[in-house]
Amino acid sequence: MDPNRGNDSNNPQKPDGNRPKGSYFTPLMIALALVLVFSWVMNLVESSQYTQTTYSDFLEAKNAGQLAEVEFQTDRVLYMTKEEAAKPPAEQKACYTGLPDGGDWAAMGEELAAQGVTVNEKIVEDNSLIMMILSYVIMIGGLFFVMNMLTKRMGGEGMMGGFGKSKAKVYMEKQTGVTFKDVAGQDEAKESLQEIIDFLHNPQKYTAIGAKLPKGALLVGSPGTGKTLLAKAVAGEADVPFFSISGSDFVEMFVGMGASRVRDLFQQAAKVAPCIIFIDEIDAVGRSRDNRFGNNSEQEQTLNQLLSEIDGFEPSKGIVCLAATNRPEVLDKALLRPGRFDRRIIVDRPNLQGRLDTLKVHTRKIRLSEDVDLRKIAQATAGAVGADLANLVNEAALRAVRKGRQAVNQEDLLVSFETVIAGTEKKNTVLTDMEKRLVAYHEVGHALVAALEKHSQPVSKITIVPHTSGALGYTMQMPEEEKFLSTADELRTELRTLVGGRAAEQVVFGIQTTGAANDIQRATSLARNMVTQYGMSEKFGLMTTASVQNQYLDGQAYMDCAQSTAAQVDEEVKKILENAYTDAKRILTDNRGLLDEISEFLLVKETITGDELMAFINADKNKLPEPQESEETQTAEE
Ligand code: ADP
Ligand code: ZN
Repeated sequence: MDPNRGNDSNNPQKPDGNRPKGSYFTPLMIALALVLVFSWVMNLVESSQYTQTTYSDFLEAKNAGQLAEVEFQTDRVLYMTKEEAAKPPAEQKACYTGLPDGGDWAAMGEELAAQGVTVNEKIVEDNSLIMMILSYVIMIGGLFFVMNMLTKRMGGEGMMGGFGKSKAKVYMEKQTGVTFKDVAGQDEAKESLQEIIDFLHNPQKYTAIGAKLPKGALLVGSPGTGKTLLAKAVAGEADVPFFSISGSDFVEMFVGMGASRVRDLFQQAAKVAPCIIFIDEIDAVGRSRDNRFGNNSEQEQTLNQLLSEIDGFEPSKGIVCLAATNRPEVLDKALLRPGRFDRRIIVDRPNLQGRLDTLKVHTRKIRLSEDVDLRKIAQATAGAVGADLANLVNEAALRAVRKGRQAVNQEDLLVSFETVIAGTEKKNTVLTDMEKRLVAYHEVGHALVAALEKHSQPVSKITIVPHTSGALGYTMQMPEEEKFLSTADELRTELRTLVGGRAAEQVVFGIQTTGAANDIQRATSLARNMVTQYGMSEKFGLMTTASVQNQYLDGQAYMDCAQSTAAQVDEEVKKILENAYTDAKRILTDNRGLLDEISEFLLVKETITGDELMAFINADKNKLPEPQESEETQTAEE
């Protein structure tokens, strides 16, 4: 499950975070190109009306007295012979030719005029003047176009008059229409926020006693856990306007813009107080000012402004600042000082009940068929955040529509769950027969190792239908209940299950394929965690050799030990993996008959359920003790 998969579809107000900086260069180029193309076209149009001749042709015509009309331009002359001039205007064809440098064209013009030839000299300049004016007009037009683009990009402030005084892009919602009922689970968070709501309802109650309320609270949690939703719900519950802006909006390309934006935001908010100001991704501005993350004077200015605004407003006014982040550890300590964002509200990934509630909230407006069991779905989605679940429900509804059904059924939900984790089925990937066999044995290898072990999660589905995510098949395990702890035995079982795919390839075909890459990666990182963080290796015992840096994002751990120790850690990880692999191979060799049987069945059916798998295994168990032998052993024992 991808924890970063946000679902902001319910949140159209959220500013677009990835604004392409520097692309105002493009419109400028377009304007320039327009000018060039225009003058080229003008030239072309003009040229097409005239035939090009040589200068000597022109002189010949002049000397023969055949010219009817000439027009001197800067570097060329246009002329029409008497023969052409006699024709009806539509058929007249004029000529032009280049003029050599240094000629006295004024004198020639006078000479020709004396011969009775019409000489236009002024038009020439007029024409080029028009061209020039036109070019300028286009150029200025282009510039305005550029400005316009910039203005839109920057959300309402043009370059002209926008400096310093910014009309910040602030999103105000008079009423969010969201209440706590729309936020499933998160009871602790709601409780902490309840006080703020009460305060917004009647500040006098608090000021009468002389209690100071926190001006701000920090919502901390992984992406998609519903921080924005909670903030909106607070505004909804308190029935006050909701200002929202993203931290990245403050970081502008012009120095000082961010600070003025902050000033503006608080000014606007003060006008409509009581209200909620919500700053999403506050880490974008609130990053620690020490050098560890690089120095950025613009960000620093913005942060200083933010701090002084927060210090500046009177709490009794009824402005409450909520901010969200998934990286609380990078925030500047100054932000977290008393009187600022001193309350930290953890918005956790939902547990089983939370997921069930979230599913209920999101299926409220969706027609469900009788067979839907949301609890099953909630069980299957351990680790998913609210946004994932919202996404899942929506996918299921879309699928039901695609299938022309009137209501969403359990299958829709299960399939969309797979879509969310594995991508959609890709029916037209063509595998060779050998590849298909390999994939089947690989998957059954996983499933069989899992199914034959005590501490494993039950297998719920095995499939060899390729998915768009690139997986050629997969084995899905579903925990029976929510678990927060794993024992060392369970982790070792998980390792064996992970390498079970590769083990099957090796045991059956004696080959190794690239299909196991992802398994190996996951197994390795699990084994590494066992050694470095969980204290589950013989060699290092309880010593930790890695520490987690940002637990609300990827939770990645960084090695935190001497290089020589790191090398030993690698050795230990390798040993654990080798043990798991040996065990998995042994399990599969011992149950080779079962492996073949199930794999052949899977090859035919392409997808088999956990129950079908267990039926094979149970049938095999009943077969195992040969009737005669068992009787003998029994009697012997008796
Ligand atoms: P965050 O701000 O933490 O990244 P959001 O508040 O933007 O997450 O959540 C995205 C969407 O996920 C919400 O609009 C909502 O549809 C859904 N969601 C997340 N958490 C919950 C929850 N606890 N209850 C109901 N829906 C939720
Ligand atoms: Zn695998």
